[in-house]
Amino acid sequence: MKKTLPTLFLSHGSPMHALQPGEVRHVWEKLARGLPRPQAVLIASAHWETKIATLTASEKPETIHDFYGFPKPLYQIQYPAPGAPELAARAVELLGQKNIPAATDPGRGLDHGAWSPLLYLYPQADVPVVQISVQTGLGPKHHLELGRALAPLADEGVLILGSGHLTHNLGDRSNGEPTAYAREFQDWVKQRIDRHALDELADYRKLTPNGVRAHPTDEHFLPLFVALGAARQDYQAERLYDGIEMGALAMDAYLF
Ligand code: ZN
Repeated sequence: MKKTLPTLFLSHGSPMHALQPGEVRHVWEKLARGLPRPQAVLIASAHWETKIATLTASEKPETIHDFYGFPKPLYQIQYPAPGAPELAARAVELLGQKNIPAATDPGRGLDHGAWSPLLYLYPQADVPVVQISVQTGLGPKHHLELGRALAPLADEGVLILGSGHLTHNLGDRSNGEPTAYAREFQDWVKQRIDRHALDELADYRKLTPNGVRAHPTDEHFLPLFVALGAARQDYQAERLYDGIEMGALAMDAYLF
């Protein structure tokens, strides 16, 4: 019997994590070492927003430096993992079976939401990577469905990973202690994840006092729903990290 791979959600942090990963580095490194080696990684990053689900389909996806004003060494980082066009095509097929429009983009590379954590998960860049976009206008429920449609890939040796942020209000960044609302939101999310209340979680903007503050726009939260949708229905969630950076950016990592 094939072993189903778990799915993951990671908060990728500022692009500077690629150079100075801090504490979360150990979590990311240990995480990959504890998993069976996947045949490929399918990663949903908050930094690629499109109208319909789109998958990278290059044999050699380029490393995109999709940020401005950072130190030069950050622009020199390369993550030369091979692509997997056949996986991209398979994902389009699976999405089509669930009536979710999808396409491939052979010209698109990997953005920092993908390569920054992958530098630590698979530092040799020897596991093929396909990136999938998020559809910000379509909200959490669409991304749960997207994940559910892609779930068969976890039985086919593909590690499905969502890369975003548990809270992501850049205007609330500070040098101070973690804000209370970020902690409260982390706890609220964890409780829903633990009891599989995914519909409630998808309604976070209505059901929590601070959901809108935690995510003024929700592109960084949507990859969590891809990972949850793709997880086994009887997943046992494991929160691997819950640090908060710059006072307001919760860095939670989950294994489902
Ligand atoms: Zn980001």
